[in-house]
Amino acid sequence: MQLTSEPGCEHLDFAAQVGINRLTKEEGGPVTAYSADIEVRCAACGVRFEWMGLECGMLPDRPMVDVSGTMMAAPLRPVGSDPSFGMDAPGYRVRAYVKDELPPA
Ligand SMILES: [Zn+2]
Repeated sequence: MQLTSEPGCEHLDFAAQVGINRLTKEEGGPVTAYSADIEVRCAACGVRFEWMGLECGMLPDRPMVDVSGTMMAAPLRPVGSDPSFGMDAPGYRVRAYVKDELPPA
């Protein structure tokens, strides 16, 4: 895993890894949501790219990133699906706080 750019690499070509998850409420049950995990890196030097402007976690109604910021988890559904499709999938949000600004327990 390359964490920094190779000196001189202009990042001209990219490699993306995409995984589509079929989410069910129980093993073998009907699909109740889909989510795409997407990672991008430079094909030449291997440096990973960070997604910008997204919160950390995974929620059923918006794209979010993992803690490293390099994997986006984006909910998706077939075109024409009911707008509520997948919206009841479980999720979580990670928030960072400055030591003296911790929220009440
Ligand atoms: Zn590169």
